[in-house]
Amino acid sequence: MIPPIPLPTDRPVRVRIAPSPTGDPHVGTAYVALFNKAFAASNGGRFVLRIEDTDQTRSTRASEEAIYKSLGWLGLTWHEGPDVGGDYGPYRQSERTEIYREHADKLLAAGRAYRCFATAEELAEMRKSAKSEGRSTSYDRRYRDLPSAEVERRLAAGEPHVIRFKAPLDGVTAFNDALRGEVSIDNSQMDDQVLMKSDGFPTYHLANVVDDHLMEITHVIRAEEWIPSTPKHVRLYEAFGWQPPVFIHLPLLRNADKSKISKRKNPVSLEFYEAVGILPEALVNFLGRMGWSMPDEREKFSYDDMVAEFSFQRMALGGPVFDLEKLDWLNGLYIRELGDDALVERLQSWLLSSGYLARVAPLLRERISRLEDFVPQASFILGRAEATPLELLIPKKKERVEAYRAMKIVVEAVDACRDWRNESIEALLRAQVEATEWKLRDLFMMVRVAVTGQKATPGLFGTMELLGKARCQARLRQALLTLRP
Ligand code: GLU
Repeated sequence: MIPPIPLPTDRPVRVRIAPSPTGDPHVGTAYVALFNKAFAASNGGRFVLRIEDTDQTRSTRASEEAIYKSLGWLGLTWHEGPDVGGDYGPYRQSERTEIYREHADKLLAAGRAYRCFATAEELAEMRKSAKSEGRSTSYDRRYRDLPSAEVERRLAAGEPHVIRFKAPLDGVTAFNDALRGEVSIDNSQMDDQVLMKSDGFPTYHLANVVDDHLMEITHVIRAEEWIPSTPKHVRLYEAFGWQPPVFIHLPLLRNADKSKISKRKNPVSLEFYEAVGILPEALVNFLGRMGWSMPDEREKFSYDDMVAEFSFQRMALGGPVFDLEKLDWLNGLYIRELGDDALVERLQSWLLSSGYLARVAPLLRERISRLEDFVPQASFILGRAEATPLELLIPKKKERVEAYRAMKIVVEAVDACRDWRNESIEALLRAQVEATEWKLRDLFMMVRVAVTGQKATPGLFGTMELLGKARCQARLRQALLTLRP
């Protein structure tokens, strides 16, 4: 039995989601947002959105905007965040660097952290020997006790360095997960984690702990995959002399084969679900059923129903399966419940708007001689895509494995793209001609067939723009699965 979640007596419940804006908006983010929001709502608390963009090379504003848009589409709105402000801002970590620096300095001054000057070569060498000795931690702490004169000398010489935490050398670190009870790790497993990187930006661990404290977060509700980080966080709270929040790790969403949900096996972008016409209230209901159930076990319930009954004591920790067929079934229930006018409205705000048709019609003009031809001709744009058969996907004179490899390169490039316009799609695909060393004609044909299911289509890039990234991505991934040798 899961015990009741402790609540603060002297201050309001505050929870947060802290997504990193590094890719497409993920279903996992919506899942964690839903449980945070429902918990806050059922306790009269506040729900905060913080953007963890400390990874300067991977974070983008476009991805951040996409998170706002998708969560907004689901109605999972927040009380405080970079876009709406609040009393605890800034809510974007890249705007808080000075705060992290001050906190790292405090730990340095207290002797709880140290400067480490290890070069890339030294680190590679340490990793190698850790591997050969079968150790799970690789940093050998060689700069931990450097005499201060030596530290000063290196600093004066401008040597690049990071700031590391002085992790305890023996004993165990334990914390209480409100759903799972005590979790502990042996400190021999704990590295002297980096707190500040040599570029002056904090790591996830430091920024996350400092922000959760300063933003007065009472409950950290996040995915199970963060459990291994939590002992490090607990030690950081202790070093700062702060009270840690209550930790609640939600079960990971799983693919049908029970592996951790991944784009290889399931569309994970929220944009995909919106693009194919899953209704937001159905997706919220579906996510609400991931590990959680209503007291009467009914499958169909609204967000408000969920809040009215919400309690983490109703959480089951076995990995919930993100089953697309089940989602379709549930979505069907919601569609059947819509009044006729409401259904038409949904269809129009999906792809049957005059705006969207105005973009599709010119593409298909050359291919229809009667207006009624429009409907079958448009089916690869408006309709659900069947998986393209293998024979159609592999270009003549190519082997399956070659096609698989080339498709993989294309899929990865498409995943990374956030500028989905005709010209940028063209540039992206042209770049893959070089990357795959394929003939342009072969590569473009394979992509065309994967995305549309047919060999003759209107212009490829325009078609892909119109289909939108999420649906192209899903179709390309489907083709990749088909091609897998
Ligand atoms: N930035 C982390 C993420 O991308 C946040 C994890 C947490 O909630 O602490 O999910």
